[in-house]
Amino acid sequence: MNDLVAIVTGGAVGIGRSISLELAKAKVKVVINYRSSAQSAEELVNEITSFGGEAIAIKADISNFTDAKNLVDKTIEHFGKLNILVNNAGITDDALILRMKEESFDSVITTNLKGVWNMCKHASRALLKAEYGRIINISSVSGIKGNIGQSNYSAAKAGVIGLTKSLAREFASKGVTVNAVSPGFIDTKMTSVLSDDIKNQVLNEIPLKKFGDTTDIAKAVLFLASNDAKYITGQTLSVDGGLSI
Ligand code: NAP
Repeated sequence: MNDLVAIVTGGAVGIGRSISLELAKAKVKVVINYRSSAQSAEELVNEITSFGGEAIAIKADISNFTDAKNLVDKTIEHFGKLNILVNNAGITDDALILRMKEESFDSVITTNLKGVWNMCKHASRALLKAEYGRIINISSVSGIKGNIGQSNYSAAKAGVIGLTKSLAREFASKGVTVNAVSPGFIDTKMTSVLSDDIKNQVLNEIPLKKFGDTTDIAKAVLFLASNDAKYITGQTLSVDGGLSI
């Protein structure tokens, strides 16, 4: 994958960090987008540079239309092109719908769905122009099965799957593939806030009887970004230990 250029949104911590690392190890030049994790982004740039990879960090709030455009523009300014867009950035703000505030619905939809659309919209021209183009959107098992307390998050993540299928159709004639990866329960900051009771409940439901790690997701993203996945588009690959069966 020498010479390809990727943007990983929310690429400095958690699942995004593993995705940035896996792509960089495959010799992809990586733009690590962050919103608040400036130090982690810089450290990751240094780590990638230390093993001979190429990476830069760019701050942008992908839920903001103009910020998302700047992220793509700065990538093209620096590397001259864009081949792979990984829409990984996401947030949760859980509550039962009886208690959920309108702001919680709006902020999760604006980051997790509109943010993905913003990035796809601004990246599309460069991806369609490139000889090699890939979009990989990170959805969730909650977008497939639904989840109590996540009406906002599940709606956004289900929306990401619909968006993925539409863009797969729009971009297919230019050879650009668009797929989603749907993680189950992965050990990151996002899931660390859950109580032990909830974690044990989820663990019981996972056929493989363990949580995934960030590398499990990153390896799936790397595959979909690679030439080995050239005949796959519009699909959602569940990486969840069987949770969505
Ligand atoms: P995490 O550790 O909480 O990291 C979230 C990432 O999203 C951070 O890099 C954060 O950047 C970035 N982010 C949030 N809002 C942003 C914005 N407006 N603009 C730019 N970046 C933004 O979460 P994670 O577990 O790695 O999750 C990564 C993705 O996987 C998310 O889409 C999540 O929904 C999905 N997922 C996770 C799980 C799981 O079990 N962990 C399961 C299913 C799906 P900063 O730190 O710089 O603010």
